[in-house]
Amino acid sequence: MNIHQIDLNHLKGLETPFYYYDMDLLATTLNQAKQAADKRGFHVHYALKANCNPRVLEMIQAKGFGADCVSGNEVQQAIDCGFPADQITFAGVGKADKEINLALQHQIFAFNVESIQELLVINELAAKAGVKAQVSLRINPNVDAHTHHYITTGLDENKFGVPNSELEKAAAVLRECANLELLGLHFHVGSQITDINVFKSLCVKVNEWKNWFEERGTAIKVLNVGGGLGVDYHQPDAHPYADFEAYFDVFDKFLERTAQQEVHFELGRALVAQAGSLVSRVLYTKSGVKKHFLILDAGMTELMRPALYQAFHKIEKLGGQADAELMNYDVVGPICESSDCFGKEVPLPPSERGDLIAIRTAGAYGEVMASRYNLRDEMRFVYSDNM
Ligand SMILES: *Cc1c(COP(=O)(O)O)cnc(C)c1O
Repeated sequence: MNIHQIDLNHLKGLETPFYYYDMDLLATTLNQAKQAADKRGFHVHYALKANCNPRVLEMIQAKGFGADCVSGNEVQQAIDCGFPADQITFAGVGKADKEINLALQHQIFAFNVESIQELLVINELAAKAGVKAQVSLRINPNVDAHTHHYITTGLDENKFGVPNSELEKAAAVLRECANLELLGLHFHVGSQITDINVFKSLCVKVNEWKNWFEERGTAIKVLNVGGGLGVDYHQPDAHPYADFEAYFDVFDKFLERTAQQEVHFELGRALVAQAGSLVSRVLYTKSGVKKHFLILDAGMTELMRPALYQAFHKIEKLGGQADAELMNYDVVGPICESSDCFGKEVPLPPSERGDLIAIRTAGAYGEVMASRYNLRDEMRFVYSDNM
């Protein structure tokens, strides 16, 4: 159920702030993505880092997605939520030995490896455990994702991936490592990508690198093109899910591959973002000379994206007159940091202490980034199917 369809009196009886998860929308989104991927024989591993709430994960697992993890605890969480080990990948630029050992012990599907040193460490730990590990090499595709610089990962000068100049050596090292098996290549250009041409450019690079390895006698079974598909933060109700058809279609058209080569994706945000809203109460209103403030009981401790990278989230008042003349508010949280601000000059109906405010499109990189800074309460949750 959409947050606006819920009986306001019911909402008003709940303690705030809380994350509201629209489980119907989540199911619809997952079905759309799964159908569009299945139609083309594509495999999708959901990126747990976007949201690892057990209720959300269990639905994603039940719909047939694999899991893409970036820590040992995420690998454990995926296993606890029912993902089969052979559908779990483990990525990340700084995997600790104990995390690698956990993944080896569970015999996960693949490690996405980001350096030659890491290859050697995984080989050594796999030998000690008496197992073989399947690995994919993460390659920096040098594609500009045209998003915020904090969430761009595919350019030359950032920390991710095996540097292009070391790939020749990486291929040689792999041949020497008895406990490693090369599965394929891994790419990820960034996040919140709404320009489909970025994915076209990625396909061109993937084709180039695949050919480069094959020309040197290295077989590539899996092409993992990462995630990054964006969602509409400005109009969540007009675009409740991303255009998965158009997204997968680009890869279907532009990726060169044989019938035996698998194409894997690691979508995070696009699968979960619109299903979550952060619901908060107005604690106080304040008016300066030129500005009006709404001070909420939710802050950057519940949703950090605006403070962390000036991210836009649609802010709405729940209930009230639909035709009320709007006022401009700076909507801020209670945390002792000036960056604790959800939006400046946000047009809203006149609001007062006790009114409920929804911060939309908070299902991805919301709950997972929450902290207890200022010794805040533990997070609360409301699920649409429990109401
Ligand atoms: C974060 C991440 C993803 C998921 O990104 P979204 O933008 O949420 O789709 C996928 N792959 C890797 C390697 C990542 O780091």
